[in-house]
Amino acid sequence: MSYDPDNIFAKILRGEIPSFKLYEDDETYVFMDIMPRADGHCLVIPKTPCRNLLDASPAQLAAVMATTQRMSHAVMRAFGAEGVTIQQFNEDAGGQEVYHLHFHVLPRHAGVALRPPGTMADMDVLKAQAEKIVAAVG
Ligand code: 5GP
Repeated sequence: MSYDPDNIFAKILRGEIPSFKLYEDDETYVFMDIMPRADGHCLVIPKTPCRNLLDASPAQLAAVMATTQRMSHAVMRAFGAEGVTIQQFNEDAGGQEVYHLHFHVLPRHAGVALRPPGTMADMDVLKAQAEKIVAAVG
């Protein structure tokens, strides 16, 4: 399986389609998931190409995990969450839909289930939530 440079997240990285950016450093980029399963649901991706966990380099994984930890703290602060769920899917059989490595960061409150996948967010709400997270990123 090879990397497709025209996947949606590659286009987001190139600025060809918009995203609500939350954080970036030399190695990683973070933005709001457009179909959030929890308020504050965001995606952490490497800036360099790889399909998923299976072909990622140790350096890509290290960078993405460090940013995932940073964003976990940020979304918990921003939404007063008590916990965080990290999800990551690999290949079609593993539930992957976009073929650029990404980690889902989902702030959680006790007893509140994740919403079902596939419902598009209201863009004004997503923008306001993004601003809260940006303010909370250390
Ligand atoms: P996965 O590949 O991990 O199964 O899911 C891909 C994720 O990307 C989904 O949660 C979906 O809501 C999100 N997604 C798909 N297309 C876009 C997009 O164009 N922009 C953003 N921000 N998120 C997207």
